[in-house]
Amino acid sequence: MALESMEIWFVTGSQDLYGPATLKQVARNSREVVDGLNASSQLPVRLVFKDVVTSAESILRVCQEASAAKACAGVVCWMHTFSPAKMWIAGLSSLRKPLLHLHTQFNRDLPWSSIDMDFMNLNQAAHGDREFGFICSRMRLGRKVVVGHWQEAAVQERLAAWMRAAAGAAELRGLKVARLGDNMRQVAVTEGDKVEAQIRLGFEVNGYGVGELAARTEAVSDAEIDAAAAECDQRYAMAGELQPGGAKRQALRYALRVETALRGFLVDGGFGAFTDTFEDLAGLAQLPGLAVQRLMAEGYGFAAEGDWKTAALVRALKVMGEGLEGGASFMEDYTYHFGADGAKVLGAHMLEVCPTLAQAKPSCEVHPLGIGGKDAPVRLVFTARGGPAINVSMIDLGDRFRLLMNEVDAVEADRPMPALPVARALWTPRPDLPTAAAAWIYSGGAHHTAFSQAVTGEMIEDLAEMSGLEYVPITATTSISDVRNQLRWNEAYYGRRS
Ligand code: MN
Repeated sequence: MALESMEIWFVTGSQDLYGPATLKQVARNSREVVDGLNASSQLPVRLVFKDVVTSAESILRVCQEASAAKACAGVVCWMHTFSPAKMWIAGLSSLRKPLLHLHTQFNRDLPWSSIDMDFMNLNQAAHGDREFGFICSRMRLGRKVVVGHWQEAAVQERLAAWMRAAAGAAELRGLKVARLGDNMRQVAVTEGDKVEAQIRLGFEVNGYGVGELAARTEAVSDAEIDAAAAECDQRYAMAGELQPGGAKRQALRYALRVETALRGFLVDGGFGAFTDTFEDLAGLAQLPGLAVQRLMAEGYGFAAEGDWKTAALVRALKVMGEGLEGGASFMEDYTYHFGADGAKVLGAHMLEVCPTLAQAKPSCEVHPLGIGGKDAPVRLVFTARGGPAINVSMIDLGDRFRLLMNEVDAVEADRPMPALPVARALWTPRPDLPTAAAAWIYSGGAHHTAFSQAVTGEMIEDLAEMSGLEYVPITATTSISDVRNQLRWNEAYYGRRS
């Protein structure tokens, strides 16, 4: 319920020249716009009308209040009339929250037969918002500009996408990520500068010994395990050997013991995301599979092998997609189908794909894992549903973070895969696998991603803008030469800034 606790402030710009009657009308119209947008049920976060600001002092005050207000995830500005923009310099300099510039107008149509100079004085966004846009550009402010009448669905969708990004950015600002064990040995892309991530995005990453979790497993009661096992019996298609009285029921009970201990660890520490690694399981009998899958489904961010960047991203995507159709998960580009019927990616991991992606009731199974030398782990097995989705990766280039996004179309499996004992998704990347994978590899994108069926590329672009991250989209219109040029230009741009 992250979105419900947030609000977005709506600030209308004007000036004193017009006199009190006009300014009262500006305030009435602004309230009507805000009320109308809230009533549209398109917006995931409540819009709060703040003020009609007409002076440098009132602008500075509202920007400082927005920056300090915990609930405020961002600010929408609209110049109903002309608002000389030197008045905005102090306020915008102090604003620490994401900014959306809504370039709209109260009335949709020109009142052709009655239009007079009073109407012209009141409805000046067409030039007032240009003055505001200039000062934002002059100050090099990151922001989103949305243009159109406020009652249009397309305008509300742009605003809604930005609100979801603002919620993701707000979530990251307070997020605590726990790492159980360090990085998978020798792996490069999952490494990175945690201090820079905290400075840039606000989330903190700290390490904990897996022994701490192992010790907690001993304190889990049989009654807690009974309750969790009964829930699993109901929610999943249980393999015969895992059912009550089944030969491997104990393996399920052990997996749920780890889950209960892990949840307690996360709750007590106030963590919203976590990582583990199969190379450091001292004191645990199985690699946590079921536990991680079920905790992801509860909303926790996760990534394996110590990948704290992807774990934080998964949590952000879960918040950004709240209330929308479709889930979010840790994912890995695992293996390919290069068939003549269209190249596809099979995404999966050793165990840890979130069941919020599932097309049908997951089955709960236990199989040996050919890596790590531990007991056979219990896991949920399913295929992700078809439809549009995105893969997102954040990499550390040494002088900056780069956020990559690839739009994909998840598809049904061509044929059943009865021998594959893990959850999986199949997708065709846009524009096609050869272009998307080459663009991804030129960009240095990781094999680990945060995968979402609900979040869109637009939301990721907005998140990158408000976080000051380099953003590389790979979409239906991507060409390799464009991406290669973009990467070269970005190198110059970010090199200049660092
Ligand atoms: Mn992996």
